[in-house]
Amino acid sequence: MSSIDDILENGAALVAKVIAPIAAAADEAEAFPLEAFRQMGTFGLYGTHYPARYGGCGLDHTTYIGLIREVAKACAATAMTALSHATLACDPIFASGNEELKRRLLPPLIAGEKIGAFAMTESESGSDTSSIRTRAEETHEGYVLNGAKLFITNANVADVAVVVARTSDAAGGLGLSLFVVEKGTPGFHASGRRERKLGMRASDTGELIFRDSPVPKQNLLGRKNRGFDILQRTLPTARLGMAAIAIGISERVRDLCVDHVLRRRQFGKPLCRFQLIQRMLADMEVNINAADLLLKKATRLRDDGKSFFKEAAEAKLFASEAAAAATRDAIQIHGAQGYCRDLPLERFFRDAKLTEIGDGTSEIQRLIIADEMIKAGTRRAQGRNGSSSADSG
Ligand SMILES: Cc1cc2nc3c(=O)[nH]c(=O)nc-3n(C[C@H](O)[C@H](O)[C@H](O)COP(=O)(O)OP(=O)(O)OC[C@H]3O[C@@H](n4cnc5c(N)ncnc54)[C@H](O)[C@@H]3O)c2cc1C
Repeated sequence: MSSIDDILENGAALVAKVIAPIAAAADEAEAFPLEAFRQMGTFGLYGTHYPARYGGCGLDHTTYIGLIREVAKACAATAMTALSHATLACDPIFASGNEELKRRLLPPLIAGEKIGAFAMTESESGSDTSSIRTRAEETHEGYVLNGAKLFITNANVADVAVVVARTSDAAGGLGLSLFVVEKGTPGFHASGRRERKLGMRASDTGELIFRDSPVPKQNLLGRKNRGFDILQRTLPTARLGMAAIAIGISERVRDLCVDHVLRRRQFGKPLCRFQLIQRMLADMEVNINAADLLLKKATRLRDDGKSFFKEAAEAKLFASEAAAAATRDAIQIHGAQGYCRDLPLERFFRDAKLTEIGDGTSEIQRLIIADEMIKAGTRRAQGRNGSSSADSG
């Protein structure tokens, strides 16, 4: 079997051949790069971490995340498309779908023959998933869905959507369930709306409509009203991918900056001799290395089957804020050239902003981290009280 380094090297070669040459044009045209999407499937990227029986390569998440990072170095929007497809859509099917569903849907999704989307956000429900209004009513045959989902990656190109819907009025996330809704289902369609975005323009973002859409029982993922449990696995996994995208962006702009400061001369010296420039370079480097360590730690925990909820939030928070800072500084270091579209810096600057919003905003990541700290602190305090009362007894 190839080592992870060989696989990442092959991934980088694929990116150089298929994605890098079209990245700027796809951004400019706001066009979904279907051919590149399919070629990533042929390469095996979407199935890196899924078992061979579903068409995957049976490798670990560390390898998959490494490949997402390689794609992001050339085109963050294509990396986000891949992540939405291979993690947000495929992971709930893999983890919670019945065997028939997995055998029927995962191989064509993993091969890139079908495209997946994950539909959670609504006009009145973003960070607060408990306010989801799309409803799934149970019938004799299965469920009937009604509602609309907004800001959905791959909405206009998807063959399969994993949809978060309300199946009970229970408070919080307790009344949510996840369904697989397939293209051709009556009443299910993309509205045709295409968001005109600041960045990530080569990714498709649109709206999905469900009007009395019948969904068979076997397309329910996991148990009714237990969708929140699936989200607790899928969203942190997606955050690992978003952190990888952010790091890929930072690495690419860092490399461009180093080349530039060696070449560009002002006041009779190369820019690399100015200490204010060096400070920006050093910050980029340290942030990339720190983000890399956070991401490796979180991904390793996932690969080892351990809890990675807090660690994924830490990696995503740090990496995305670092990418926003790195791309801003990269433009500063390049001056006017950096501000213009001949270089990819302004594209990465626009793309980096999304990493602070998608798959849970930075504020939500901070809330998750603090919440986990408070829970751990409470457990420690209870443990101490318990042992002190035992001691005193
Ligand atoms: C390009 C793009 C692609 C996307 N793709 C998908 C997709 O494929 N599927 C999908 O389901 N969704 C998708 N989304 C939606 C994305 O997940 C949401 O935008 C994100 O979860 C934030 O929700 P919101 O935009 O409604 O912001 P809001 O929830 O309205 O938040 C607005 C602001 O308030 C802050 N805020 C909210 N609650 C709190 C709180 N309790 N404490 C402190 N601050 C808070 C937020 O951090 C943010 O700064 C996509 C969005 C974009 C832009």
